[in-house]
Amino acid sequence: MIEQIRNNLYRIEIPLPQNPLKALNSYFIRGSNRNLLIDTGFNREECRIAMDRAIQELDIALEETDILVTHIHADHSGLAGYLARPETRIYTGGYTHKSLTQTNNLSNYHADFIKQSGLMEMGLTQDLSFHPGYRYRSAPVSHGTVVREGTLIQAGDFTLQCLMTTGHAPDHICLYDQKHKILFSGDHILGGITPNNTVWDSPWNIRIDYLDEYFKSLEKIQDLDIELTLPGHRRILTDCQGRIEELKVHHHNRLNNVLDILGNKSMTGAQVASKMKWDLNIKSWEEYPPAQKLFASGEALSHLTHLVFKGVLAKELRDGLVYYHIV
Ligand SMILES: [Zn+2]
Ligand SMILES: [Zn+2]
Repeated sequence: MIEQIRNNLYRIEIPLPQNPLKALNSYFIRGSNRNLLIDTGFNREECRIAMDRAIQELDIALEETDILVTHIHADHSGLAGYLARPETRIYTGGYTHKSLTQTNNLSNYHADFIKQSGLMEMGLTQDLSFHPGYRYRSAPVSHGTVVREGTLIQAGDFTLQCLMTTGHAPDHICLYDQKHKILFSGDHILGGITPNNTVWDSPWNIRIDYLDEYFKSLEKIQDLDIELTLPGHRRILTDCQGRIEELKVHHHNRLNNVLDILGNKSMTGAQVASKMKWDLNIKSWEEYPPAQKLFASGEALSHLTHLVFKGVLAKELRDGLVYYHIV
């Protein structure tokens, strides 16, 4: 499905089958010189078919089109390799660049993550072939352009300022067009669903408080003059500031919920995740597919880690598992 948002600006809906996110919003800006495509969909047949159809309907010349990937997640980066032509500039942050240009990816910490988080005790194996990030990742790209805070990308009438908005991913990018008061928010700000916040290392080795980074990145957006927020999933938003407030409240409620769940006990990330409320149409934790258990545990761990950084919790390593308790 294609929706025209403004003159020369389109939203392309790319289906994400069997995924709670349902679909990805890819955005296409037609330029006089070069076009820009923002985010792509998974590297799987259903996404390729939808993208190929849009390319045909919008009469997009790929050799005149650059691609910006807001972050590494395969629903955003998956088709970069498939769509890129020798002339294509692929704009990404540094983490995504390394991952897309290397055949082996950066996610070596996942095996330790599954062990230390307690997911192995719950039956998950360290084989990550079920993970959409592995199954549907992009074919390696031979070159790319790393953007930084403030990098400007011109596409037709749109001047897009790159805002590094770490939190949901280590190098997440939002794009802001001051003249049109439009924010391309990637997965930093979503409506209807809350962006997943996770940790990007094994629980024992975490050095970065990604939830804190996320809060800081929300503040970065808070004072911008925005009329239209174009997110990576679900509906277009008109009240960005209101949504930012809701997201902050959501995470503060989650932090309190994590403390309630812990009480006077010592628990692993996966044990805490199994007691949290998740927005899935599946009744019990035991029935969650492995990928959802992994995402939920990542989210629990980002909150537990934040509380460790704040000095509210302590963590300890026992038999290869990381346990958290209130100090
Ligand atoms: Zn994402
Ligand atoms: Zn996404």
